[in-house]
Amino acid sequence: MSSPIVRVRVAMLPAGEPPVLGGPRPLVTPLTGIEGAERLLRGDATAGLPPAASWAVVVRLEDADGREGVGTAGFGSPATVPVIEQLAPVVLGARPAEVNRLWETMFRATVNVGRRGVVMHAISALDVALWDLHARQLERPLHELLGGAVRSEIPAYASRLYATDDLDALAAEARGYVEQGFGAVKQRLAYGPSDGRDGIRRNVELVKTVADAIGPGVEQMADAYMGWDAGYAIRCIRAIEDAGIRLRWVEEPVMPDEIPGLARVRAAVDTPIAAGEHEATRFGFRDLVTAGAVDVLQPDVNRLGGITEARRVWALGETFGLDVIPHLGVAHNLQVAAASFATPMVEYMPPPGDDGRFDEDQVWWMLFPDEPRAHHGTIRLKRGPGLGVTLDDARLQELLELN
Ligand SMILES: [Mg+2]
Repeated sequence: MSSPIVRVRVAMLPAGEPPVLGGPRPLVTPLTGIEGAERLLRGDATAGLPPAASWAVVVRLEDADGREGVGTAGFGSPATVPVIEQLAPVVLGARPAEVNRLWETMFRATVNVGRRGVVMHAISALDVALWDLHARQLERPLHELLGGAVRSEIPAYASRLYATDDLDALAAEARGYVEQGFGAVKQRLAYGPSDGRDGIRRNVELVKTVADAIGPGVEQMADAYMGWDAGYAIRCIRAIEDAGIRLRWVEEPVMPDEIPGLARVRAAVDTPIAAGEHEATRFGFRDLVTAGAVDVLQPDVNRLGGITEARRVWALGETFGLDVIPHLGVAHNLQVAAASFATPMVEYMPPPGDDGRFDEDQVWWMLFPDEPRAHHGTIRLKRGPGLGVTLDDARLQELLELN
């Protein structure tokens, strides 16, 4: 029933321009305040490699019967591609039903050069494609291979609200999500330690603008995208609390390796702390959890090690009583989230508007147009085989030719 893999293909394209939205800076990042860095990264968005902020890497595995499994690595780096090509012989000739053995082989074969980052993104993409193909060979949705969905639909939070000087526009965007039925929204903060005391005031102003716009019945989160240090985070979160705002969480207040700093922040404030989208493997998440550093784990399946490793990370959250709310509510994360009681909601990047404009958050909608959309703040789980989404091959070719 499980036929062997006969072909591995990989494509890579820039995931679009970083968002630059009517303000001095759409979000604070690890590069904020580093002299010269903003010139290198067009648009001062996230911490990807120049010249584009991030890249979409798509892996396709074909079996002897012509079925295809698709996985992605990203938003990552073009350097993922040669690693995938180097690992391809591990999966060629193997059956997707052997995925545990294949994962362990890839992990151990790269341990001296890998364990996270680009190498783990490559393993993640291959693993997701293996699970997709495995489920398609069985003609079952992937979540059924993980024990089955515990719910047919899941609440989604609207994740956008980049910082801007135009506070009226920010408030209008936030109200728009409430009108669409979202019960929770997440915004980006723009200022960090290099912006001094005034930066704290302006971060509080951004948070207060959204709080006033959405009202008390809607959950609010704020993302510092690794752009703070522990001391600044404590001061800024206390200032938000002193303004009377109760955030559902503050996300990534410090750099990912600053686990003791994260634990210090969490101990010093009332606001829950979320992190994990830049963490990898059960071992990285074990350290986050056992340090008491987080209230919410935010794994991303196509970075942390694929479906195989994600099951163990979700089990960690379940074991320690933490929320597991994945980074990006797209198919590879949704399939695992659907099978766990630890996931009360998922992230949702609203798709492009009528202007057709897209940015790095939205390239997904172009590659996988049948990715489930939120309606009234809820995503209904797809019942199709595998990941339940289809790669738009024509669109991928078109995008490849443009670049
Ligand atoms: Mg985030």
